[in-house]
Amino acid sequence: MEGGFDGAGAAEVVAELRESFESGRTRSFEWRVAQLKGIARLIVEKEAEITAALDDDLAKPQIESFIGEISMVRGSCRFALKELKRWMKPEKVATSVTTFPSSAKVVSEPLGVVLIISAWNYPFLLSIDPVIGAIAAGNAVVLKPSEVAPATSSFFARILPDYVDNSCIRVVEGSIPETTALLDQKFDKILYTGNARVGRIVMTAAAKHLTPVVLELGGKCPVLVDSNVDIKVATRRIVAGKWGCNSGQACIAPDYIITTKSFAPKLVDALKITLEKFYGKDPLESADLSRIVNSNHFKRLMNLLDDEKVSGTIVHGGQRNEKRLRIAPTILLDVPSDSLIMKEEVFGPLLPIVTVDELREGFGLINSKGKPLAAYLFTKDRKLEEKFVKTVSAGGMVINDTILQVTNPRLPFGGVGESGMGSYHGKFSFDAFSHKKAVLSRGFGGDVSMRYPPYTAHKQKI
Ligand code: NAD
Repeated sequence: MEGGFDGAGAAEVVAELRESFESGRTRSFEWRVAQLKGIARLIVEKEAEITAALDDDLAKPQIESFIGEISMVRGSCRFALKELKRWMKPEKVATSVTTFPSSAKVVSEPLGVVLIISAWNYPFLLSIDPVIGAIAAGNAVVLKPSEVAPATSSFFARILPDYVDNSCIRVVEGSIPETTALLDQKFDKILYTGNARVGRIVMTAAAKHLTPVVLELGGKCPVLVDSNVDIKVATRRIVAGKWGCNSGQACIAPDYIITTKSFAPKLVDALKITLEKFYGKDPLESADLSRIVNSNHFKRLMNLLDDEKVSGTIVHGGQRNEKRLRIAPTILLDVPSDSLIMKEEVFGPLLPIVTVDELREGFGLINSKGKPLAAYLFTKDRKLEEKFVKTVSAGGMVINDTILQVTNPRLPFGGVGESGMGSYHGKFSFDAFSHKKAVLSRGFGGDVSMRYPPYTAHKQKI
């Protein structure tokens, strides 16, 4: 949005959207379908521009942009269009003898005007995917994309209005001042994606209006690797989930590995071989690796790497090119638990490995940190898998792979504890932006005088 978006601007946008919402326009099935079809059309017609914006913002390889963002959004849109009628249908529920005769149902009603604040790392997906849910549920929406991915943010501001009803769906560009101005307004739900520090700011602002929030945060996503795995397949999947996802700048990318002392050297060797196969001998020159988003994040990552507590632990990589914002895939072995890299979310191409005597010790290690958004286990041991699922708390899990939980729209996507609250994707998005209204309906028959005063001695006996 052009300069000067302040409190008055925010109030104006929200007032306009509220008026549109109150006209009832967004509630109809037809309106929702038309918006979703608009977004589906945008993806087809503007694919090249989306890819170019992602290239500008992150030098994201084209295939990665397609698989990780464009086709995910296309899938969400198609799924919502296919399922919408079913999702919108009131759900009949059983009644009890207390209300006999009666019928009961749960009606999903739109919440009103909702705000979506998104992050820079998957700037197309993380912006428009929640919008799909909000529209499917019949809301008016303000989208505030991340200023840290300016090309994608500007794409939305320029292009989205051509494909959706602008009186109900708005894009507001900007950084802290603009977001703060928006957060001063009353919304009916806020979905925020980003770090936990700002998550707290969003939740505090929302509390003033009693606005419920979905917070999609991050955390340190662990990968436990057993010694009985198919090491070739396991390392391919770890490397793809870490460096093949935006050079590790992904909320569910493996953050650190836990493995046994005896298996670690074998695992490191296998990771090195896979990395070289994927990205060549000089990964700083690889076109298949995204760059670091900006110099602030580059410096943040260098801080993690230059921490004296991890000096001597780099067993692979470590090369960097500050001018081009490139960092080679880097593995650190046996990092101390009080090093910065084990305290903070990495969110980049550095992969520390922690070693233990017995893999099960890793469960305690994971649970001693803030609950992660994702936890991964590679093993052939079914008992260990069961124990992992029961013992480790995380937003989501994958056994013997990474990242793929995000691709199934029938699974909720969201964190727990430090990694967030609430979830979305598929029907969970529809539910996140709906109020579940309880409706009990009776006729006039079967009226029992028992419940009414006077509460006579006779009634009290019964
Ligand atoms: P970011 O810098 O893009 O910030 C996110 C949003 O918050 C932006 O729209 C920004 O304008 C806004 N913002 C920043 N400071 C603010 C302030 N003081 N007041 C109000 N709004 C403000 O993204 P980021 O935080 O660097 O994102 C990375 C983090 O997000 C990581 O922790 C990552 O794990 C997490 N993440 C989570 C998910 C998920 O789906 N759970 C997805 C991606 C990233």
